[in-house]
Amino acid sequence: MIQRQRIVAGNWKMNKSYVEGRELVKEISDRLQPTDTMVILAPPFIHLNNVGNNIRGVANMFLAAQNCHWAESGAYTGEISARMLESIEVQYVIIGHSERREYFLETDEILAKKIDAVLAHNMRPIFCCGEKLEVREAGTQEQLVEEQLRKALFHLSPEAFQKVVIAYEPVWAIGTGKTASPQQAQDMHAFIRSVIAGQYGDEAAQATSILYGGSCNPSNARELFGQADVDGGLIGGASLKADDFLAIVNSFS
Ligand code: PEP
Repeated sequence: MIQRQRIVAGNWKMNKSYVEGRELVKEISDRLQPTDTMVILAPPFIHLNNVGNNIRGVANMFLAAQNCHWAESGAYTGEISARMLESIEVQYVIIGHSERREYFLETDEILAKKIDAVLAHNMRPIFCCGEKLEVREAGTQEQLVEEQLRKALFHLSPEAFQKVVIAYEPVWAIGTGKTASPQQAQDMHAFIRSVIAGQYGDEAAQATSILYGGSCNPSNARELFGQADVDGGLIGGASLKADDFLAIVNSFS
């Protein structure tokens, strides 16, 4: 069984020219201290091959894509398939980021198909869930997150589910500088674990890595990662500077 792991994943989003990306990955891989934490880089598609070549052989560094299509191949201009990602040794794929849900209208039904495609091609999905501000203000965030998990993930067999990493990213905290408090993060992570336990059992829930995402930075990472059910972070803005990203990687007590 895959065990729960400490993970820090950097989501570069739509940032960095090819040359800038080359410099960033080199700085991160050169300066990474030996660590038990799994460090995942999720650059834009054009960087994947180069980032992969840079980190291959660096202990505990892994390559992720930010998205993929659900179909094997075909007439989907501008899209990239899971099969293509597997062919360049991508290991993880972020699925269901709130920006994909918001700007590209990805529904939980579409996300379920993408999850299947990623798993069928021997990669692990990092599934993002999380509520918008109005849902948090209405106090219905747990129902919403549970529905996102059920619709996109709970069709999976227990064997397949083990490969999923979950990222709880409250939408109101993404790129806003407004972080969930450590207690808010802990409460939701514990809730997510309880929902997983209800579906797949306690052992599976304890083995699932659940990351926090949303304005995580070197100043707040230690306290967030110190929460019992927070296994690390999915980092946006702060993953674009080697100093900040490496400081976050070193933020486990
Ligand atoms: C993200 O996009 O996954 C994210 C967490 O962004 P930021 O850290 O910039 O809030």
